[in-house]
Order: sequence, then structure tokens, then C-alpha cells
Amino acid sequence: MSTFQDLGLNDNLLQAITDLGFTKPSEVQEKAIPILLESETDLVALAQTGTGKTAAFGFPMLEKIDIDSRTTQGLILSPTRELCLQITNEMKLYGKYCKGLNVVAVYGGSSITDQARDIKRGAQIIVATPGRMKDMIKRRLVDISKIQYSVLDEADEMLNMGFKEDITDILSHTPDDKNTWLFSATMPREVATIAKKFMNNPQEITVGNKNESTSQVSHEYYLVNARDRYQALKRLSDANPDIFSVVFCRTKRDTQKVAENLIEDGYNAGALHGDLSQNQRDMVMKSFRNKQIQMLVATDVAARGIDVDDITHVINYQLPDEPEIYTHRSGRTGRAGKTGISMVIVSKSEVRKIKSIERIIKKQFEKKEIPDGADICEVQLMSLANKIHNTEINHEIDKHLTSINELFADTEKDELIKKFFSVEFTRFYNYYNKSKNLNIAEGSYDRDGGREGGRDFSRGGKNDSTRYFINVGGKDGFDWMKLKDFLKEQLGLGRDDVFKVETKESFSFFNTENEVKEKVLAHFTDFKYEGRFVNVEVSENRGGGRRSDRSGGGRRDGGNRRNDRRGGGRRDDRKGASGSRSDRRRSDGDSKPPRRSDSNDLGSSRPRRSRR
Ligand code: ADP
Ligand code: MG
Repeated sequence: MSTFQDLGLNDNLLQAITDLGFTKPSEVQEKAIPILLESETDLVALAQTGTGKTAAFGFPMLEKIDIDSRTTQGLILSPTRELCLQITNEMKLYGKYCKGLNVVAVYGGSSITDQARDIKRGAQIIVATPGRMKDMIKRRLVDISKIQYSVLDEADEMLNMGFKEDITDILSHTPDDKNTWLFSATMPREVATIAKKFMNNPQEITVGNKNESTSQVSHEYYLVNARDRYQALKRLSDANPDIFSVVFCRTKRDTQKVAENLIEDGYNAGALHGDLSQNQRDMVMKSFRNKQIQMLVATDVAARGIDVDDITHVINYQLPDEPEIYTHRSGRTGRAGKTGISMVIVSKSEVRKIKSIERIIKKQFEKKEIPDGADICEVQLMSLANKIHNTEINHEIDKHLTSINELFADTEKDELIKKFFSVEFTRFYNYYNKSKNLNIAEGSYDRDGGREGGRDFSRGGKNDSTRYFINVGGKDGFDWMKLKDFLKEQLGLGRDDVFKVETKESFSFFNTENEVKEKVLAHFTDFKYEGRFVNVEVSENRGGGRRSDRSGGGRRDGGNRRNDRRGGGRRDDRKGASGSRSDRRRSDGDSKPPRRSDSNDLGSSRPRRSRR
């Protein structure tokens, strides 16, 4: 293992490296730096995000340019404004002892004339996004005709983002005899084409396998019904109290919605997507960097710029359209030598996509279960206990201690602890007490014939509820909610004991657990309601393949009973339900089903705030 001295860097750089606390070169640095220092060559370097590519091209560039000259000699192209600023900052840090060095960032969304002025003062190095750079060239605000070194950083991402023409255009204004150094995490065909077109006999280095994802990242997937996606997301977050994550959605709209819902549900979340103004995006990124935001919900394009090192989890709320993009997503975690987890929430129809991703990343996914309510409560409780244990005492409290002690004079330590924990814990407990199991078995029979949202099986996959036919319906003034209330009242059952209530015009269906079957049938024998006989029979229709019938039987398992809040939530039964947000997003314990919100999978409920 070599040191930075061995690589042949000058004292100014070595001093800066010491200041930065870098003790030894990373693999890509170890491989690239000597090549770039020793020869005038083109280079293709393949290395994952977080492997230290900036320094791999940054140190050699700083070493090679003439700082006494004010001519622009180095041009670094990078896909986003955020990356552009990040590279600029890094370059300034690396070159802090190089007197007279001027590195200028050129990117959209900020004054072009200010940037032009900074360049005029003599910028040896320009770090630019392709769009703005092209603009500047067109307006003759910059001269890159004397460039000696050009870097295409995150080349695969730049091409993904459609910058190919811009890059071609920009490079056509640079001298033919310059050196081009291309850095990329993956090597799709487009990158190879670019390399061939613009580069001269490039040397090639690879860190890890081509297209392989970062080794410190483990990959997990969770199989749920599509409509439970949002619930699953919340549970994954609740089961990881110290989560610091990027949540990827496919569209801007879903990104915004998921973020809004999380915020409303009491999570520290924020949205990052292209419909936000630059100012809004800056604010979100700032909050994310100082961890005020724990869950950053982002589109792929917007997340390109995320350069935060200690992201613990990447959550794929939806899988990307192209499996290659998964590499970029998961590369947001496990950076700078840390470990990370990339989680994918999939519905049954998407499971096969996991296989194609595995082929690309050359790693196996582990199938995991969405934690149940009891697991989450335990995690939350222990996390709280640890937090309290590690809390530094604030002695401002001392002066109030007498009164507090008086109040608790008769309280035993055990009781005090229990009470104290209950303040926080009860919220979680109440929320998850009656939560259902969100996991579905991979090979289970899918009543929807392959459509999203097959039947929801409990862990054992057993069907232990009974479905009944009842000869009252819409024309008798029942909608599903009224019928459910009626049945509960008649049978003396609890909120979750009657489920999958489905009303038709002159008859209806509902379910109960098997164990109350006799009671139900007995109650409705010779039963009269408002002067007419009401007849209940066990139905052959076991709950059908209708969307509304997807919640399984309300079996009790360890206090974690699935509830039926969607039971009977049929489209035609929803006429009466209000369409307001708050109504749609009822708590888990509420008996009204949330409205299905258009095409997205956002379900109900607020876990963190106390409800009702
Ligand atoms: P990449 O461009 O490959 O995604 P970066 O250049 O952004 O990676 O580096 C990722 C992080 O690792 C940055 O915070 C950087 O300061 C740090 N880093 C880079 N090289 C080293 C090193 N040799 N030792 C320790 N940390 C390093
Ligand atoms: Mg980089």
C-alpha cells in the first residue's frame, strides 16, 4: 500500500492532504495518480461513487497546471450543479497551498455574468455543467481554446441526462492535443462510444468489477402489495430510528406526494425534484446535510447531485425503469468506506426486475420481511432507552428538581421509568398495536391474475376467516360503513372483527374470523330488522379477486392483528366518503378505508402524532 508521497505529489498538495486527514490513497487514486502524473495520456477510469475520484483527477491536475499563468488550462465537466460545486470546493481545499490558484464553478441557475467575471480574473480551472458551459461558449464569455486537461466526471450520468450533444459541442472548442480523463461508475455502451470518439488510445483502469456496485452496500428487498408501499416505507423508517436516507421515486409527482405524506405523518422528510426552484432545492439539501431531514425523497435526476457521505439507507420506493439506474441509487450509500443498505420495496409484478438488477450489480439481494408492529415497538423502545442512557444531563433542570421530586415522592423507580417511557412509546404502540402484516409470500396464489395487489396473506398464508352473504344492501339504506356498524353492534364485536364488508344493491357480503362463525349464524337465525327477515348465510364467494378484498382474515397473532381498514373499500362504496386529504389518510385503526389516491400507492395514517 503506497502513501501519497510515493505517488509523487508535491509538498503543497501533501500539506493539504494532511490537513484533510487523508492518510492513504484510495484504490482509484493509487492507480490513476501515477499514470496521470507521469505521462500525457488519455484515461478511462471506472470506479464507484464514493471511491475518491475527485482527488484521483484533482491532484494530478493541480500538479500539472501552471498556476502562475492565468490561462484556463483545466476543464472539468460534471452532470449537476451540486456535483459541480462539490468538486470546486474539493479542488479549492486540495489547492489551498497553491498560491494564486483560481477555480471557478460554472452552472445554471446562478448569474452568468458573475461567473464570467470570476473567469476573467484568471481561472486556471473551470468546473462546469455541460448546459451552462455551452451557453457561455456561445456567448463568448469563456475561452477554452488553451485547455490542456479535460475531465468528464460521472460520464455515465452525464450521458444519462442527455448531455451528449453539449459535451460534443464543448469539446469541439478545445485543442485536439489536450488530454481527456473520463471517470465513470459504470461503462454502458454510450460511454464507450464517447471514449472512442474523443479519446486517443486511453489507458484504462478499473476499481472493482465494471458496473459492480459498491461492496459496502448490502441489498435487500421487501415484497408487499403495491397499495401497501407507503405503509411499508413508514415501517422501514420506524424500524430504523436513526435512519438517514434517500428515498427514490420514479416521478416528480410521486416524489412530492410521498414527501408530503411523510411530513404530514410526522417524519423529518423533504422532497428533491426538478419542479422545485433552485432556491428550494438548496434549502432542502441544506436541511438534509445538517440532518434536519432524515428522509430525502428524490427523483433520480435530482439525486444525481447528492454527495452526502453518511447516508445509512437508500430506499427504492419504486424501482427505476432502467436497472442500470439502480447502481446510481445504491451508490448514494456506503460512501467513504462506510457501510450502507439499499432497500427495495417491490410488488409481486416487479420481483423479476430484482433478478435483472442482480445480474448488473453482480450481487444477491436478500429477501427480508417488513417488520411487524411488535418488532418496531421494541426497536423504538430500546432506541429511546439508549438515547436516555447517553443523554448529557442539562443542569438547568436542577433548580426545578425539588418540585419534581415532590410530585414523584410516592412513585417507585420502576413505575417512574414506565411512565417516562410511555410518554413516547404509547404513540408507537397505539399505532402499531393493530397493524397488519404487510408481507406477501413470493409464490402465493395471486387472485388478481398477475395484476398488482394480489391477496394479502398473513405469515402462515392461512385463510382463517369466514365470508357471509346477507340479504340487505344499498336499497335498504346500507353502505359498507353503515352495514359494518350495524353488524358490529348486533354481534357485539369490536372494530376490526367485521371486515371486507361489500354492499350491493339488494345484498351484501362480509367476513369475520372463523371462531365467531357460530355466533354470527345463531344471531341471525329468525332475525327481524325493521319488520323484515334478515338472513345470513356462509358465502361460497370467499372474498373474490376484487381490490377491496385484499386484506386477509383478522387473525390474532401476538397482538399484531391485521385490520380490515380496507375491507369493503370498494370504488362504488366510496361515494359518501369525502375526498379530502385528511380523510383519505386516516389512521390504521380507523374503520373507514382510505380512498385510493389515483394511481399512486399512498395509503393512510399518521404514526408519530397522536391520533384523535
Ligand atoms: P467519488 O467522486 O468517487 O464519488 P469523492 O471524490 O466525492 O468520490 O470522495 C468521496 C469522499 O471520500 C469525499 O468526502 C472525500 O473527501 C473522501 N476521500 C477521498 N479520498 C480520500 C482518501 N484518500 N482518504 C480519505 N477520504 C477520502
Ligand atoms: Mg465524484
